[in-house]
Amino acid sequence: MSLVVTIIGRPNVGKSTLFNTLTERRDALVADLPGLTRDRQYGEITIQDMTATLVDTGGMLGDEGDLTTLMDEQIMQAVEEADLLLFVVSAKEGLVGDDENILNRVRTYQKPIWLLVNKAESKDPDVAKAEFYQLGIETLYALSTAHRRGITELQNDLADFLKKHPKPSPEWQDFGPKLAVIGRPNVGKSTLVNRLLGENRVLAYDLPGTTRDSIYLPLRWDDARYTLIDTAGVRRRAKIGEGVEKFSIIKTIDAIKASQVCLLLIDATENITDQDLHLIGLAVYHAKPVLLVINKWDHLSETHKQQVKNRLDHKLQAFQWLPRVYTSALHGSGLRHVMERVALLIERANMPLTANQLTNVLNEAYKAHQPPLVQGLSSQLKYAHSGGHHPMRIVIHGKRVDKLPDAYKRYLENTFRDAFDLKGIPLVLQFKSGR
Ligand code: GDP
Ligand code: GDP
Repeated sequence: MSLVVTIIGRPNVGKSTLFNTLTERRDALVADLPGLTRDRQYGEITIQDMTATLVDTGGMLGDEGDLTTLMDEQIMQAVEEADLLLFVVSAKEGLVGDDENILNRVRTYQKPIWLLVNKAESKDPDVAKAEFYQLGIETLYALSTAHRRGITELQNDLADFLKKHPKPSPEWQDFGPKLAVIGRPNVGKSTLVNRLLGENRVLAYDLPGTTRDSIYLPLRWDDARYTLIDTAGVRRRAKIGEGVEKFSIIKTIDAIKASQVCLLLIDATENITDQDLHLIGLAVYHAKPVLLVINKWDHLSETHKQQVKNRLDHKLQAFQWLPRVYTSALHGSGLRHVMERVALLIERANMPLTANQLTNVLNEAYKAHQPPLVQGLSSQLKYAHSGGHHPMRIVIHGKRVDKLPDAYKRYLENTFRDAFDLKGIPLVLQFKSGR
Protein backbone atom coordinates (compact mmCIF):
# COMPACT_ATOMS: atom_id res chain seq x y z
CA MET A 1 0.00 0.00 0.00
CA SER A 2 1.29 3.39 -0.77
CA LEU A 3 1.57 6.46 1.37
CA VAL A 4 -0.72 9.42 1.04
CA VAL A 5 0.53 12.99 1.32
CA THR A 6 -2.21 15.58 1.61
CA ILE A 7 -1.94 19.32 1.06
CA ILE A 8 -4.08 21.50 3.30
CA GLY A 9 -4.36 25.22 3.94
CA ARG A 10 -6.68 28.12 3.38
CA PRO A 11 -7.44 29.37 -0.14
CA ASN A 12 -4.85 31.17 -2.22
CA VAL A 13 -1.72 30.20 -0.30
CA GLY A 14 -0.38 28.18 -3.24
CA LYS A 15 -1.66 24.64 -2.67
CA SER A 16 -2.49 23.86 -6.26
CA THR A 17 0.75 25.41 -7.49
CA LEU A 18 2.57 23.06 -5.15
CA PHE A 19 0.45 20.11 -6.26
CA ASN A 20 1.30 20.81 -9.90
CA THR A 21 4.99 21.18 -9.13
CA LEU A 22 5.24 17.96 -7.18
CA THR A 23 3.27 15.87 -9.69
CA GLU A 24 4.99 17.26 -12.78
CA ARG A 25 7.31 14.35 -13.46
CA ARG A 26 4.58 11.78 -13.33
CA ASP A 27 2.29 13.95 -15.44
CA ALA A 28 4.93 14.17 -18.13
CA LEU A 29 5.19 10.39 -18.20
CA VAL A 30 1.48 9.87 -18.73
CA ALA A 31 0.83 12.95 -20.84
CA ASP A 32 0.32 10.81 -23.91
CA LEU A 33 -2.13 8.31 -22.52
CA PRO A 34 -5.32 8.55 -24.57
CA GLY A 35 -8.51 9.83 -23.05
CA LEU A 36 -6.87 11.22 -19.99
CA THR A 37 -7.92 14.53 -18.48
CA ARG A 38 -5.63 15.67 -15.74
CA ASP A 39 -6.94 15.16 -12.23
CA ARG A 40 -6.27 18.19 -10.11
CA GLN A 41 -7.05 16.62 -6.77
CA TYR A 42 -5.32 13.26 -6.82
CA GLY A 43 -1.88 12.90 -8.29
CA GLU A 44 1.26 10.87 -7.98
CA ILE A 45 4.67 11.98 -6.79
CA THR A 46 7.76 10.13 -7.86
CA ILE A 47 10.99 11.02 -6.12
CA GLN A 48 14.14 8.88 -6.08
CA ASP A 49 12.14 5.79 -7.08
CA MET A 50 9.70 6.33 -4.24
CA THR A 51 6.09 7.08 -5.01
CA ALA A 52 3.15 8.40 -3.05
CA THR A 53 -0.33 9.62 -3.71
CA LEU A 54 -0.64 13.37 -3.48
CA VAL A 55 -3.97 14.93 -2.58
CA ASP A 56 -4.87 18.60 -2.89
CA THR A 57 -7.80 19.44 -0.66
CA GLY A 58 -8.05 22.84 -2.35
CA GLY A 59 -9.97 21.35 -5.24
CA MET A 60 -12.57 20.15 -2.78
CA LEU A 61 -13.45 23.68 -1.73
CA GLY A 62 -16.48 25.56 -2.87
CA ASP A 63 -16.00 28.77 -4.81
CA GLU A 64 -16.43 30.92 -1.75
CA GLY A 65 -13.71 28.97 -0.03
CA ASP A 66 -14.91 30.05 3.38
CA LEU A 67 -14.04 28.18 6.50
CA THR A 68 -17.28 26.26 6.78
CA THR A 69 -16.57 24.54 3.50
CA LEU A 70 -12.93 24.37 4.49
CA MET A 71 -13.92 22.08 7.32
CA ASP A 72 -16.13 20.18 4.98
CA GLU A 73 -16.51 16.46 5.56
CA GLN A 74 -14.71 15.53 2.38
CA ILE A 75 -11.63 17.43 3.46
CA MET A 76 -11.72 15.88 6.88
CA GLN A 77 -11.93 12.44 5.30
CA ALA A 78 -8.87 13.33 3.23
CA VAL A 79 -7.05 14.39 6.41
CA GLU A 80 -8.07 11.19 8.13
CA GLU A 81 -6.76 9.09 5.26
CA ALA A 82 -3.44 10.91 4.99
CA ASP A 83 -0.08 9.69 6.22
CA LEU A 84 1.49 13.12 6.10
CA LEU A 85 -0.03 16.59 5.96
CA LEU A 86 1.62 19.47 4.14
CA PHE A 87 0.14 22.55 5.72
CA VAL A 88 0.67 25.55 3.46
CA VAL A 89 0.67 29.13 4.75
CA SER A 90 1.68 32.41 3.15
CA ALA A 91 4.75 34.43 4.10
CA LYS A 92 3.28 37.36 2.24
CA GLU A 93 0.23 37.62 4.45
CA GLY A 94 1.79 36.17 7.57
CA LEU A 95 -0.07 34.17 10.18
CA VAL A 96 -3.82 34.68 10.07
CA GLY A 97 -6.66 33.40 12.20
CA ASP A 98 -7.83 30.86 9.64
CA ASP A 99 -4.42 29.20 9.65
CA GLU A 100 -4.79 28.57 13.36
CA ASN A 101 -8.37 27.39 13.00
CA ILE A 102 -7.39 24.85 10.38
CA LEU A 103 -4.46 23.63 12.41
CA ASN A 104 -6.53 23.20 15.55
CA ARG A 105 -9.03 21.17 13.66
CA VAL A 106 -6.60 18.83 11.89
CA ARG A 107 -4.37 18.35 14.93
CA THR A 108 -7.02 16.11 16.50
CA TYR A 109 -6.16 13.51 13.84
CA GLN A 110 -2.59 13.26 15.14
CA LYS A 111 -0.96 13.05 11.74
CA PRO A 112 2.57 14.27 11.12
CA ILE A 113 2.37 17.86 9.87
CA TRP A 114 4.98 19.80 7.94
CA LEU A 115 4.52 23.53 7.72
CA LEU A 116 5.29 25.04 4.33
CA VAL A 117 5.73 28.79 4.47
CA ASN A 118 5.10 29.63 0.83
CA LYS A 119 5.50 32.88 -1.12
CA ALA A 120 8.72 33.48 0.77
CA GLU A 121 10.68 34.74 -2.23
CA SER A 122 11.24 38.23 -0.96
CA LYS A 123 12.17 37.26 2.59
CA ASP A 124 15.09 35.66 4.28
CA PRO A 125 14.00 32.02 4.86
CA ASP A 126 14.63 32.21 8.61
CA VAL A 127 12.64 35.40 8.93
CA ALA A 128 9.81 33.93 6.87
CA LYS A 129 9.63 30.93 9.17
CA ALA A 130 10.03 32.82 12.44
CA GLU A 131 6.55 34.24 12.48
CA PHE A 132 5.07 30.75 12.36
CA TYR A 133 7.08 29.16 15.15
CA GLN A 134 4.29 29.90 17.58
CA LEU A 135 2.16 27.28 15.83
CA GLY A 136 4.37 24.69 17.47
CA ILE A 137 5.13 22.67 14.32
CA GLU A 138 8.67 21.34 14.31
CA THR A 139 9.23 20.78 10.62
CA LEU A 140 9.16 24.04 8.66
CA TYR A 141 10.14 25.00 5.15
CA ALA A 142 10.38 28.40 3.56
CA LEU A 143 9.36 28.03 -0.07
CA SER A 144 8.57 29.92 -3.15
CA THR A 145 6.62 27.38 -5.11
CA ALA A 146 5.99 29.74 -7.99
CA HIS A 147 9.74 30.28 -8.34
CA ARG A 148 10.65 26.68 -7.55
CA ARG A 149 12.65 27.71 -4.53
CA GLY A 150 12.99 25.22 -1.69
CA ILE A 151 11.28 22.51 -3.71
CA THR A 152 14.28 20.20 -4.08
CA GLU A 153 14.92 20.16 -0.35
CA LEU A 154 11.26 19.41 0.28
CA GLN A 155 11.33 16.60 -2.29
CA ASN A 156 14.42 15.06 -0.74
CA ASP A 157 12.86 15.10 2.70
CA LEU A 158 9.66 13.63 1.28
CA ALA A 159 11.67 10.77 -0.22
CA ASP A 160 13.30 10.16 3.17
CA PHE A 161 9.91 10.15 4.83
CA LEU A 162 8.57 7.61 2.32
CA LYS A 163 11.58 5.38 2.85
CA LYS A 164 11.18 5.49 6.61
CA HIS A 165 7.47 4.75 6.65
CA PRO A 166 6.83 1.73 4.47
CA LYS A 167 3.26 0.48 4.56
CA PRO A 168 2.65 -3.09 5.63
CA SER A 169 1.37 -5.33 2.86
CA PRO A 170 -1.61 -7.60 3.37
CA GLU A 171 -0.79 -11.25 3.81
CA TRP A 172 -2.57 -12.55 0.71
CA GLN A 173 -1.10 -10.16 -1.73
CA ASP A 174 1.32 -12.56 -3.34
CA PHE A 175 -1.08 -15.34 -4.20
CA GLY A 176 -1.08 -14.24 -7.84
CA PRO A 177 -1.54 -11.19 -10.06
CA LYS A 178 -3.64 -8.62 -8.25
CA LEU A 179 -7.02 -7.68 -9.65
CA ALA A 180 -8.53 -4.51 -8.24
CA VAL A 181 -12.32 -4.61 -8.18
CA ILE A 182 -13.32 -0.96 -8.25
CA GLY A 183 -16.36 1.18 -8.95
CA ARG A 184 -18.86 3.49 -7.32
CA PRO A 185 -20.93 2.25 -4.39
CA ASN A 186 -23.73 -0.17 -5.36
CA VAL A 187 -22.49 -1.15 -8.80
CA GLY A 188 -22.09 -4.75 -7.64
CA LYS A 189 -18.47 -5.07 -6.48
CA SER A 190 -19.15 -7.29 -3.46
CA THR A 191 -21.58 -9.40 -5.42
CA LEU A 192 -18.95 -9.93 -8.13
CA VAL A 193 -16.20 -10.74 -5.64
CA ASN A 194 -18.42 -13.28 -3.91
CA ARG A 195 -19.42 -14.84 -7.20
CA LEU A 196 -15.84 -15.18 -8.36
CA LEU A 197 -14.79 -16.75 -5.11
CA GLY A 198 -17.84 -19.00 -4.98
CA GLU A 199 -17.48 -21.86 -2.55
CA ASN A 200 -13.83 -21.07 -2.13
CA ARG A 201 -14.33 -17.90 -0.21
CA VAL A 202 -12.04 -18.01 2.75
CA LEU A 203 -12.75 -16.02 5.82
CA ALA A 204 -11.63 -12.54 4.95
CA TYR A 205 -8.37 -11.66 6.55
CA ASP A 206 -9.30 -8.86 8.87
CA LEU A 207 -6.98 -5.96 8.40
CA PRO A 208 -6.92 -3.41 11.18
CA GLY A 209 -9.88 -1.70 9.64
CA THR A 210 -9.62 1.88 8.66
CA THR A 211 -11.84 3.07 5.86
CA ARG A 212 -8.74 3.11 3.69
CA ASP A 213 -7.98 -0.59 3.68
CA SER A 214 -9.16 -3.05 1.06
CA ILE A 215 -9.42 -6.79 1.61
CA TYR A 216 -7.04 -9.07 -0.31
CA LEU A 217 -8.51 -12.43 -1.24
CA PRO A 218 -6.89 -15.43 -2.94
CA LEU A 219 -8.71 -16.63 -6.05
CA ARG A 220 -8.20 -19.78 -8.07
CA TRP A 221 -9.67 -19.72 -11.55
CA ASP A 222 -9.04 -22.68 -13.82
CA ASP A 223 -5.38 -23.34 -13.21
CA ALA A 224 -4.42 -19.76 -12.51
CA ARG A 225 -4.02 -17.99 -9.21
CA TYR A 226 -4.97 -14.38 -8.56
CA THR A 227 -5.38 -12.01 -5.67
CA LEU A 228 -8.63 -10.06 -5.66
CA ILE A 229 -8.48 -6.63 -4.11
CA ASP A 230 -11.92 -6.08 -2.69
CA THR A 231 -12.50 -2.36 -2.20
CA ALA A 232 -16.07 -2.86 -1.03
CA GLY A 233 -15.45 -5.21 1.86
CA VAL A 234 -14.41 -2.96 4.69
CA ARG A 235 -17.00 -0.39 3.85
CA ARG A 236 -19.62 -3.06 4.20
CA ARG A 237 -18.45 -3.90 7.66
CA ALA A 238 -18.28 -0.24 8.55
CA LYS A 239 -21.82 0.08 7.27
CA ILE A 240 -23.05 -2.60 9.62
CA GLY A 241 -21.10 -1.08 12.47
CA GLU A 242 -21.85 2.58 12.10
CA GLY A 243 -24.65 2.92 9.66
CA VAL A 244 -22.54 5.25 7.53
CA GLU A 245 -21.23 4.53 4.12
CA LYS A 246 -18.09 6.30 3.11
CA PHE A 247 -16.75 6.08 -0.37
CA SER A 248 -13.01 6.50 -0.32
CA ILE A 249 -11.19 7.56 -3.45
CA ILE A 250 -7.92 6.99 -1.63
CA LYS A 251 -8.84 3.37 -1.02
CA THR A 252 -9.64 2.99 -4.70
CA ILE A 253 -6.32 4.61 -5.68
CA ASP A 254 -4.44 2.29 -3.33
CA ALA A 255 -6.14 -0.69 -4.93
CA ILE A 256 -5.40 0.59 -8.43
CA LYS A 257 -1.75 1.15 -7.61
CA ALA A 258 -1.33 -2.28 -6.08
CA SER A 259 -3.02 -4.04 -9.01
CA GLN A 260 -1.91 -5.61 -12.29
CA VAL A 261 -5.41 -5.27 -13.75
CA CYS A 262 -8.38 -3.11 -12.81
CA LEU A 263 -11.88 -4.50 -13.08
CA LEU A 264 -13.93 -1.36 -13.22
CA LEU A 265 -17.61 -1.97 -12.64
CA ILE A 266 -20.31 0.18 -14.14
CA ASP A 267 -24.01 -0.16 -13.38
CA ALA A 268 -25.77 -0.79 -16.70
CA THR A 269 -29.09 0.30 -15.26
CA GLU A 270 -27.84 3.80 -14.57
CA ASN A 271 -26.35 6.38 -16.85
CA ILE A 272 -22.59 6.37 -16.78
CA THR A 273 -21.69 9.13 -14.32
CA ASP A 274 -18.85 11.62 -13.93
CA GLN A 275 -17.62 9.56 -11.04
CA ASP A 276 -17.38 6.48 -13.28
CA LEU A 277 -15.33 8.52 -15.73
CA HIS A 278 -13.19 9.87 -12.92
CA LEU A 279 -12.39 6.33 -11.78
CA ILE A 280 -11.51 5.28 -15.33
CA GLY A 281 -9.22 8.32 -15.51
CA LEU A 282 -7.50 7.32 -12.28
CA ALA A 283 -6.86 3.77 -13.47
CA VAL A 284 -5.46 5.05 -16.77
CA TYR A 285 -3.33 7.68 -15.00
CA HIS A 286 -1.71 4.86 -13.07
CA ALA A 287 -1.16 3.13 -16.41
CA LYS A 288 -3.01 -0.04 -15.45
CA PRO A 289 -4.75 -2.37 -17.87
CA VAL A 290 -8.48 -1.80 -17.45
CA LEU A 291 -11.46 -4.03 -18.09
CA LEU A 292 -14.85 -2.33 -18.04
CA VAL A 293 -17.39 -4.64 -16.46
CA ILE A 294 -20.87 -3.52 -17.39
CA ASN A 295 -22.87 -5.13 -14.62
CA LYS A 296 -26.56 -5.76 -13.85
CA TRP A 297 -27.04 -6.70 -17.51
CA ASP A 298 -29.83 -9.10 -16.46
CA HIS A 299 -31.88 -6.14 -15.38
CA LEU A 300 -32.35 -4.82 -18.93
CA SER A 301 -34.75 -5.71 -21.72
CA GLU A 302 -33.35 -6.44 -25.19
CA THR A 303 -34.24 -3.00 -26.59
CA HIS A 304 -32.90 -1.35 -23.48
CA LYS A 305 -29.59 -3.22 -23.89
CA GLN A 306 -28.98 -1.65 -27.29
CA GLN A 307 -29.76 1.79 -25.91
CA VAL A 308 -27.30 1.29 -23.09
CA LYS A 309 -24.59 0.14 -25.52
CA ASN A 310 -25.13 3.23 -27.65
CA ARG A 311 -24.95 5.46 -24.62
CA LEU A 312 -21.73 3.81 -23.49
CA ASP A 313 -20.23 4.30 -26.96
CA HIS A 314 -21.07 7.95 -26.74
CA LYS A 315 -19.85 8.56 -23.18
CA LEU A 316 -16.73 6.46 -23.53
CA GLN A 317 -15.54 7.90 -26.81
CA ALA A 318 -12.16 8.80 -25.33
CA PHE A 319 -11.86 5.31 -23.90
CA GLN A 320 -12.82 3.23 -26.89
CA TRP A 321 -9.58 1.37 -26.41
CA LEU A 322 -10.86 -0.22 -23.21
CA PRO A 323 -12.52 -3.63 -23.57
CA ARG A 324 -15.99 -4.17 -22.13
CA VAL A 325 -17.72 -7.25 -20.85
CA TYR A 326 -21.36 -7.49 -19.89
CA THR A 327 -22.17 -9.35 -16.71
CA SER A 328 -24.71 -10.24 -14.15
CA ALA A 329 -22.80 -10.65 -10.94
CA LEU A 330 -26.09 -11.51 -9.29
CA HIS A 331 -26.72 -14.51 -11.54
CA GLY A 332 -23.10 -15.29 -12.26
CA SER A 333 -23.25 -14.77 -16.00
CA GLY A 334 -20.38 -13.29 -17.97
CA LEU A 335 -17.80 -14.21 -15.33
CA ARG A 336 -15.97 -16.56 -17.68
CA HIS A 337 -15.59 -13.69 -20.14
CA VAL A 338 -14.27 -11.48 -17.39
CA MET A 339 -11.60 -13.97 -16.41
CA GLU A 340 -10.62 -14.73 -20.01
CA ARG A 341 -10.09 -11.03 -20.58
CA VAL A 342 -8.13 -10.69 -17.37
CA ALA A 343 -5.75 -13.46 -18.45
CA LEU A 344 -5.35 -11.82 -21.85
CA LEU A 345 -4.70 -8.39 -20.35
CA ILE A 346 -1.99 -9.77 -18.07
CA GLU A 347 -0.36 -11.58 -20.95
CA ARG A 348 -0.50 -8.59 -23.28
CA ALA A 349 0.71 -6.07 -20.72
CA ASN A 350 3.89 -8.11 -20.35
CA MET A 351 4.30 -9.05 -23.96
CA PRO A 352 7.82 -8.53 -25.32
CA LEU A 353 7.77 -6.59 -28.58
CA THR A 354 10.87 -6.73 -30.72
CA ALA A 355 12.14 -3.77 -32.71
CA ASN A 356 11.63 -5.88 -35.80
CA GLN A 357 7.95 -6.51 -35.16
CA LEU A 358 7.33 -2.89 -34.25
CA THR A 359 9.22 -1.53 -37.24
CA ASN A 360 7.30 -3.81 -39.60
CA VAL A 361 3.97 -2.55 -38.31
CA LEU A 362 5.24 1.02 -38.48
CA ASN A 363 6.28 0.59 -42.11
CA GLU A 364 2.95 -0.96 -43.06
CA ALA A 365 1.10 1.86 -41.34
CA TYR A 366 3.22 4.43 -43.16
CA LYS A 367 2.65 2.80 -46.53
CA ALA A 368 -1.09 2.55 -46.01
CA HIS A 369 -1.47 6.12 -44.92
CA GLN A 370 1.18 8.81 -45.10
CA PRO A 371 1.30 11.74 -42.73
CA PRO A 372 0.34 15.17 -44.09
CA LEU A 373 3.03 17.70 -44.91
CA VAL A 374 3.98 20.03 -42.12
CA GLN A 375 4.95 23.48 -43.39
CA GLY A 376 5.53 21.95 -46.78
CA LEU A 377 7.85 19.29 -45.45
CA SER A 378 7.16 15.59 -45.14
CA SER A 379 7.70 13.50 -42.05
CA GLN A 380 9.35 10.14 -42.37
CA LEU A 381 8.87 7.19 -40.08
CA LYS A 382 11.99 5.06 -39.91
CA TYR A 383 11.97 2.52 -37.14
CA ALA A 384 10.42 1.69 -33.80
CA HIS A 385 11.44 -0.15 -30.68
CA SER A 386 10.06 -0.90 -27.26
CA GLY A 387 10.61 1.64 -24.50
CA GLY A 388 9.50 -0.59 -21.64
CA HIS A 389 6.35 -1.89 -19.98
CA HIS A 390 3.82 -0.54 -17.45
CA PRO A 391 2.94 1.62 -19.23
CA MET A 392 3.86 -0.03 -22.48
CA ARG A 393 5.97 2.39 -24.47
CA ILE A 394 6.82 2.39 -28.15
CA VAL A 395 9.56 4.71 -29.32
CA ILE A 396 9.28 5.87 -32.90
CA HIS A 397 12.23 7.36 -34.77
CA GLY A 398 12.14 9.32 -37.96
CA LYS A 399 12.33 12.70 -39.61
CA ARG A 400 10.17 15.45 -38.09
CA VAL A 401 8.14 12.87 -36.21
CA ASP A 402 7.73 15.27 -33.30
CA LYS A 403 5.68 17.44 -35.66
CA LEU A 404 3.15 14.76 -36.53
CA PRO A 405 -0.43 15.92 -36.01
CA ASP A 406 -2.36 14.32 -33.16
CA ALA A 407 -4.74 12.61 -35.55
CA TYR A 408 -1.84 10.79 -37.16
CA LYS A 409 -0.42 9.81 -33.79
CA ARG A 410 -3.81 8.36 -32.90
CA TYR A 411 -3.81 6.46 -36.18
CA LEU A 412 -0.43 4.94 -35.35
CA GLU A 413 -1.55 4.12 -31.87
CA ASN A 414 -4.65 2.33 -33.13
CA THR A 415 -2.59 0.47 -35.67
CA PHE A 416 -0.19 -0.82 -33.01
CA ARG A 417 -3.09 -1.67 -30.74
CA ASP A 418 -4.77 -3.72 -33.45
CA ALA A 419 -1.59 -5.39 -34.64
CA PHE A 420 -0.63 -6.68 -31.22
CA ASP A 421 -4.09 -7.04 -29.70
CA LEU A 422 -3.44 -4.44 -27.03
CA LYS A 423 -7.02 -3.54 -26.20
CA GLY A 424 -7.15 -2.26 -22.64
CA ILE A 425 -3.39 -1.76 -22.33
CA PRO A 426 -2.28 1.84 -21.76
CA LEU A 427 0.10 2.63 -24.57
CA VAL A 428 2.50 5.55 -24.75
CA LEU A 429 4.01 6.52 -28.09
CA GLN A 430 7.21 8.49 -27.89
CA PHE A 431 8.52 10.30 -30.96
CA LYS A 432 12.18 11.00 -31.61
CA SER A 433 13.24 13.10 -34.54
CA GLY A 434 16.58 12.67 -36.21
CA ARG A 435 18.02 13.25 -39.63
P1 GDP B 1 -4.54 27.60 -3.59
O1 GDP B 1 -5.84 28.30 -3.60
O2 GDP B 1 -3.99 27.46 -2.19
O3 GDP B 1 -4.51 26.32 -4.34
O4 GDP B 1 -3.48 28.59 -4.28
P2 GDP B 1 -2.92 28.61 -5.80
O5 GDP B 1 -1.91 27.55 -6.00
O6 GDP B 1 -4.06 28.67 -6.72
O7 GDP B 1 -2.14 29.99 -5.77
C1 GDP B 1 -2.78 31.21 -5.50
C2 GDP B 1 -1.99 32.33 -6.11
O8 GDP B 1 -0.71 32.45 -5.49
C3 GDP B 1 -1.72 32.12 -7.59
O9 GDP B 1 -1.85 33.35 -8.24
C4 GDP B 1 -0.27 31.63 -7.61
O10 GDP B 1 0.37 31.96 -8.82
C5 GDP B 1 0.32 32.40 -6.46
N1 GDP B 1 1.48 31.71 -5.89
C6 GDP B 1 1.68 30.39 -5.67
N2 GDP B 1 2.89 30.17 -5.15
C7 GDP B 1 3.50 31.36 -5.03
C8 GDP B 1 4.77 31.79 -4.55
O11 GDP B 1 5.61 31.01 -4.15
N3 GDP B 1 5.00 33.14 -4.58
C9 GDP B 1 4.08 34.03 -5.03
N4 GDP B 1 4.41 35.31 -4.99
N5 GDP B 1 2.89 33.66 -5.50
C10 GDP B 1 2.59 32.35 -5.50
P1 GDP C 1 -21.09 -2.65 -4.20
O1 GDP C 1 -21.51 -1.52 -3.32
O2 GDP C 1 -20.46 -2.15 -5.46
O3 GDP C 1 -20.28 -3.69 -3.51
O4 GDP C 1 -22.46 -3.34 -4.69
P2 GDP C 1 -23.19 -4.66 -4.15
O5 GDP C 1 -22.47 -5.87 -4.60
O6 GDP C 1 -23.45 -4.50 -2.69
O7 GDP C 1 -24.54 -4.57 -4.98
C1 GDP C 1 -25.45 -3.50 -4.81
C2 GDP C 1 -26.86 -3.99 -5.13
O8 GDP C 1 -26.93 -4.35 -6.50
C3 GDP C 1 -27.25 -5.22 -4.34
O9 GDP C 1 -28.60 -5.11 -4.01
C4 GDP C 1 -27.02 -6.36 -5.33
O10 GDP C 1 -27.86 -7.44 -5.10
C5 GDP C 1 -27.37 -5.69 -6.64
N1 GDP C 1 -26.65 -6.31 -7.77
C6 GDP C 1 -25.34 -6.58 -7.85
N2 GDP C 1 -25.05 -7.15 -9.05
C7 GDP C 1 -26.20 -7.26 -9.72
C8 GDP C 1 -26.56 -7.77 -11.02
O11 GDP C 1 -25.75 -8.27 -11.79
N3 GDP C 1 -27.86 -7.67 -11.38
C9 GDP C 1 -28.82 -7.13 -10.56
N4 GDP C 1 -30.06 -7.07 -11.01
N5 GDP C 1 -28.52 -6.63 -9.34
C10 GDP C 1 -27.23 -6.70 -8.92
